[in-house]
Amino acid sequence: MGYFKDIYNGISSTLIGMGLTAREMVQPNHIVTIQYPKESIPVPDTGRYRLHNNIDECIGCNQCANACPVSCIEITSFKRLDKDVETVKETQKKRLWVEQFDIDMSKCMFCGLCTWPCPTECITMTKVYDYSVFDFRDHIYKFSDMTPVQIAEKKAELEAYTAEQAALKATAAAKKAAEAAAAPKPETPAAPAAPAAEKPSEG
Ligand code: SF4
Ligand code: SF4
Repeated sequence: MGYFKDIYNGISSTLIGMGLTAREMVQPNHIVTIQYPKESIPVPDTGRYRLHNNIDECIGCNQCANACPVSCIEITSFKRLDKDVETVKETQKKRLWVEQFDIDMSKCMFCGLCTWPCPTECITMTKVYDYSVFDFRDHIYKFSDMTPVQIAEKKAELEAYTAEQAALKATAAAKKAAEAAAAPKPETPAAPAAPAAEKPSEG
């Protein structure tokens, strides 16, 4: 019985397959094969392809990198001085210089997890899917717009400021210690005299 059933299944599935092929052949304007790259299928708005970071709005908080399960986002940053702090998206402060913001798209698995925690929504998945390269290192996209000269300049400013603050702190501490040493010491109160021992009563 199983033998005839197998023959029946084989013949019927072949006929169903051929029927589908015949139907597709006579369908007008139906996309079966497209002539890529001259033609392409529209990408849905919800598609997740190559990442982009609008670095002007990136505050360097590292939350995207922390959320990435495969560690393909590399961020290096350092503190901005108060004079350089900027506000983005009305509430977020840019307190860091982002000297490096690299995304290695050859590691990315397009999960989109990095886009969710971003407080300024500056990291997004675009519709760009065609970015083949010959050298996989070219899949590392660099978003920082700081030049080496600018990085060196801002780091030097920060170092000078830190040194200045440390010197001020040391001076303040030394002054406090000197004042404490010069202040008159309170006299130690004399210890109360021990009560005289009672003579044992005679008789
Ligand atoms: S999409 Fe996923 S894998 Fe790609 S960078 Fe974002 S978190 Fe990492
Ligand atoms: S989460 Fe957003 S703001 Fe924070 S470092 Fe990543 S891209 Fe920049």
